Amino acid sequence: MSRAVLASANPGKLRELAALLEPFAVQLLPQAQFAVRPAAETGTTFLENALIKARHAARHAHLPALADDSGIEVEALGGRPGVCSARFAGEGASDEQNLRQLLAELLGVPDEFRQARYQCVIVFVRAAGDPAPLVAHGTWEGSITHTPRGQGGFGYDPVFVPAGEHRTAAELSGAEKNAVSHRGKALRALVAMLESDGYIRTP
Ligand code: IMP
Repeated sequence: MSRAVLASANPGKLRELAALLEPFAVQLLPQAQFAVRPAAETGTTFLENALIKARHAARHAHLPALADDSGIEVEALGGRPGVCSARFAGEGASDEQNLRQLLAELLGVPDEFRQARYQCVIVFVRAAGDPAPLVAHGTWEGSITHTPRGQGGFGYDPVFVPAGEHRTAAELSGAEKNAVSHRGKALRALVAMLESDGYIRTP
C-alpha cells in the first residue's frame, strides 16, 4: 500500500498521522483532495464513528482509508465531552470555543478533581465494504489546567497536562507528543497489524 485517504478534515490529525507514517512510505491524502464531504458522525462510540468515516472516505476516494475518531474524557464531567469533543461548544465550534467551554464547566473544580484522558480509535479499511477492518486504540492520561498554555498541537492540547509532565501537550514538540499520545499509541498498534498482514513493510 503506497497511498491511503485520511477520513478527516482536521489539519492537526493529518500532521500527526502523516509524521508517524512517514518512515513507511505511506502517503496519507486528505479526503478533501478527492472532494469527499465529511460524513455524519451518528455513532455513539469512537469505534462506530471511526468506521463510518473510514468507509465513507474509501467509498468516495476509491482508495484504502484511515480514520481517527478521538476525544477527551474529563472525570469531573462524567466523561464528557467524549465523542462530542469536536462540537462541545456547539456544531461548528472552533477549538478555542470548545476549550473555553471546557474551562468554564470546570470553573472552581480543584486540581485533584481535574483528571482527564484522551481516547483515540483508528480504523483502517482496504475498501468501503471491507468485512475485516483493522482497529487500534490508544489512551493518554493527564489533567486539565486552569488556563491555556502553549502553541503546538491542536484542540484541547493547551489545557491538557500529561501525567508526570509540567508542560501542557501544546508545549511539547510534535515528536514528543507523537511518542506518548493516544494517537501515537493507536497508530503504532495499527502499523504493527498492517505489517503483519503485509500491507506495509518496515523500511
Ligand atoms: P473527531 O474529529 O470527531 O474525532 O474529533 C476529535 C476532537 O477531539 C478534536 O476536534 C479535538 O477537539 C479533540 N482531540 C482529539 N485528539 C486530540 C489531540 O491530540 N489534541 C487535542 N484535542 C484532541
